[in-house]
Amino acid sequence: MDRPFPSIVVASVPDRNNPPSEDSSGKLPVVECANCGVCCFHMGYPAYIRPREPMTEAEIDVLQEQSGRKISARRRDELRAGHPGEAHWHNLPDDLKAELETYIAGYQLPNYGQTLDTFDGPCIWLDMQTRMCKHHTVRPNVCRDFETGSPDCLDWRRTYEDRINDPAG
Ligand code: SF4
Ligand code: SF4
Repeated sequence: MDRPFPSIVVASVPDRNNPPSEDSSGKLPVVECANCGVCCFHMGYPAYIRPREPMTEAEIDVLQEQSGRKISARRRDELRAGHPGEAHWHNLPDDLKAELETYIAGYQLPNYGQTLDTFDGPCIWLDMQTRMCKHHTVRPNVCRDFETGSPDCLDWRRTYEDRINDPAG
């Protein structure tokens, strides 16, 4: 993965020592997405739920043996059930779908969680100049669900603020 870790200055990061309070509706204040994009910095690629054929127990056993890792009972249930895939995947234009399938097929698992440097890097659809999604109208569910100004949004903004202020941290 040779895409560079982004070096940016994020404007208007809420102060962790003076956290924003919820308003009377119980919602955190909305912050600006413009010139931000940090929730896409560690995504690697658009995380669609793609269709999965149901697997048999025997197939799951083979998968477990090949991976060398125990597959949990819950994961077995998911694999047995399969998944029809999310609607946004089915609506994705064929050329983008093919491009993404090729990328995922060649994907190499990074060493998650050791340091920020080992995160998967910016989503391949993030335009680092504008900090906007190149295919915003067809983005996956997970990106639509991520709420501007939510606790996770604010946490990620603070995380990257730390990274900028303390590169060794
Ligand atoms: S949702 Fe939050 S982290 Fe993502 S671009 Fe908008 S402000 Fe930045
Ligand atoms: S698909 Fe778009 S919104 Fe989702 S992570 Fe990638 S760049 Fe961000």
